[in-house]
Amino acid sequence: MIAIYPGSFDPITLGHLDIITRSSVLYQKVIVVISLNPNKKPLFTVEERIAQIQKAVHHLPNVEVDSFDGLTVTYARQCQAKVLLRGLRVLSDFEKELQMAHTNKTLADDIETVFLATSTEYGFLSSSLVKEIARFGGAIRHLVPEHVALDIERCYRKILP
Ligand code: ADP
Repeated sequence: MIAIYPGSFDPITLGHLDIITRSSVLYQKVIVVISLNPNKKPLFTVEERIAQIQKAVHHLPNVEVDSFDGLTVTYARQCQAKVLLRGLRVLSDFEKELQMAHTNKTLADDIETVFLATSTEYGFLSSSLVKEIARFGGAIRHLVPEHVALDIERCYRKILP
């Protein structure tokens, strides 16, 4: 069975990578899909995010990386995925994620949203938190893959004086 894992991944964190690694054991193929969100101004371009994720998952042969501008269920249908994966951290995720899962169910009844609970050590971790820490020069190397930490640090060196 094919599963897709959609998100912004701006950038990928160790929390995302944990969900990808654990789901790669459960499904034949997992496609990590960068969804283009017009309401968010990303730090990294889609191409940069694809490269970051590809490098982070290179040791997982059944994981692919892609991007899509449109409804997640449309993408799922195109690649014949029956499962849409999402990660759950805290209670506030649940409200938003359940609404999204119900919405997607009304659009595509044949596609199931499957939630994976975060691993305890990553329950607090989000891409925005990483960016906020990095913006003020804090340590992020324990939160994202090493090559991503380098990209973020380089990025803020350019943006900030
Ligand atoms: P989005 O903008 O779609 O919320 P994100 O890139 O922030 O995209 O997250 C993609 C998915 O990964 C979401 O389901 C989110 O809840 C989940 N996720 C993010 N961080 C973690 C984490 N630390 N542990 C588990 N799941 C996570």
